[in-house]
Amino acid sequence: MDAKCPWCGGELEEGRYYNMTAGAHFLPAGRKKPALLTRSSIEAKGGIATPPFVGLLGDGPSSMRAWACRQCKKLILAYEEE
Ligand SMILES: [Zn+2]
Repeated sequence: MDAKCPWCGGELEEGRYYNMTAGAHFLPAGRKKPALLTRSSIEAKGGIATPPFVGLLGDGPSSMRAWACRQCKKLILAYEEE
């Protein structure tokens, strides 16, 4: 797949994004961080949990498919494998 950066239109570099800390997540602007960082508590707040997930201890994905634009210094992550 030849993906283009949605900001500058340049070529995206495909790879994997590794996050070593379980509990990392996206929250829509204005939302409060959940007290517990499990996948379900994050999703209950309208957020998106990203691998690795809290409580899975080695199960499940440990990285995400990712595309980088080095020009814009942005990463695009696929938080669920297709
Ligand atoms: Zn770009």
